[in-house]
Amino acid sequence: MTDSLTNDYLLRIMAGEDEIRGFAVLATETVGEAQRRHGTLPAATAALGRTMAAAVMMGAMLKGREKVFVQVLGDGPVGRIMADADSQGGVRGYIENPLVHFPPNAQGKIDVARAVGKGQLMVIKDLGLREPYRGTVPLVSGELGEDFAYYFLASEQVPSAVALGVLVERDGSVRTAGGLIVQLLPGAREELADLLTERFQNMPPFTRMIDSGMKPEEILHMSLGDLNLRILERMPVRFHCTCSRERLEQVLIAMGRGELEDMLAAQEDAEVTCRFCGNVYRFTPWELQKLILQT
Ligand SMILES: [Zn+2]
Repeated sequence: MTDSLTNDYLLRIMAGEDEIRGFAVLATETVGEAQRRHGTLPAATAALGRTMAAAVMMGAMLKGREKVFVQVLGDGPVGRIMADADSQGGVRGYIENPLVHFPPNAQGKIDVARAVGKGQLMVIKDLGLREPYRGTVPLVSGELGEDFAYYFLASEQVPSAVALGVLVERDGSVRTAGGLIVQLLPGAREELADLLTERFQNMPPFTRMIDSGMKPEEILHMSLGDLNLRILERMPVRFHCTCSRERLEQVLIAMGRGELEDMLAAQEDAEVTCRFCGNVYRFTPWELQKLILQT
């Protein structure tokens, strides 16, 4: 079990004449848990936390048992980043190289673009259909907010403003994490696009506003309050891993008889670690033998 109650939450909103939809998430404790579980250093924490903030908001765009998987495949030092989320505020994340940090860039910020590098952003949605939906776009900046905005425009044809942010304390723990996605829906008035573009370009960074004591509600009111803003839903957000002993057994069975027999030959307990949450599952030689019978 990896679920724990947090103060994190997500808001789903509409504005205009149903021409704008939006999501805002406070994910400080959720990203903090990922930071502790993976032992990430600040640049890796920022890259992983931004990806998780985007994933949990994309999860909130789904219904029921639908899920979203996000992969950032950059050539920078953090390597591959993965996050997946359900439609109820559960999210988990993984980063290939957690021990990445370098001094802040010229603007005094963590250089996420340098940590991530160039490459691709891949989104897979399990909508309960025979084939999952897949969309892949090149990384246009590596800062991730712009990259997700480009994904929504290029792959889903939805003009979007995306702000993602993580602030890290001196001791490496997460001070603030969260994000905002605002999207123009089909049929929206053209002048709204210009208005929103101008507003979001002039808006302070999301994490700075949260850090100064503003709540996500207040940030949404500041940016969309004069545009018939309606908060439709407020849902709790938490780090949630879907691993279980049964799932790990299926992974071991899928590895095949030869691999399992090699593990059995070692004559000691096999340990399998979930790469998303770090939980360790132990299998005795007797249990391995039973799994071999199922291959
Ligand atoms: Zn797990």
